Amino acid sequence: MSVGKGLIFLGPPGSGKGTQAQELSKELKIPHISTGEMLREAISSQTPLGKQAQTYVDQGELVPDDLLLGLIEERLKENDAENGWILDGFPRNVPQAEFLDTLLQKLAKFSQQAINLDVPDDVIIKRLLMRGRKDDNEETIRRRLEVYREKTQPVLDYYRQQDRLSSIDGDRQPEAVTQALKAVVG
Ligand code: ADP
Repeated sequence: MSVGKGLIFLGPPGSGKGTQAQELSKELKIPHISTGEMLREAISSQTPLGKQAQTYVDQGELVPDDLLLGLIEERLKENDAENGWILDGFPRNVPQAEFLDTLLQKLAKFSQQAINLDVPDDVIIKRLLMRGRKDDNEETIRRRLEVYREKTQPVLDYYRQQDRLSSIDGDRQPEAVTQALKAVVG
């Protein structure tokens, strides 16, 4: 039985999940697994997955679950994920959260802790426009926020109801957020 931990980073696009996940991944020596990164890589190398995912990502829509679930399962079974991991960008809807629970029961591994980075909408929009990634134009940003509210907000409730959710104020200096995260992760 492993003593590791699965950390699930939740929060709207631009909340700083990626930056914080990277930081904590170094600190805790567990891999940072970002579905957004995996998809962008697949798109830039035009793999079959990348070709199928491209229009969804470009429009700020969620990529269909059947394209992602196998990918996540394979990734979590890799050796470096044995003692824990930080998931960033997954689960993004309730069916994905349920899939993850079933998968982890099957792998009989370790506990999961979900952490929400809380950042107000006006701050988010400013940050994303500054970031200037290819899928960061104003229309796509607006759509990603809508999708977040519709599909991902219920994931927060899902973990809250099971007493597995912590919330952190993400609207402050990155270093302060990292400190708060470390305190919550323990
Ligand atoms: P952000 O940093 O804006 O939160 P990500 O890098 O996590 O964005 O994801 C970028 C895009 O990749 C999303 O807008 C979506 O199209 C797709 N994507 C990433 N993760 C998932 C997922 N778990 N389910 C469906 N689509 C996803």
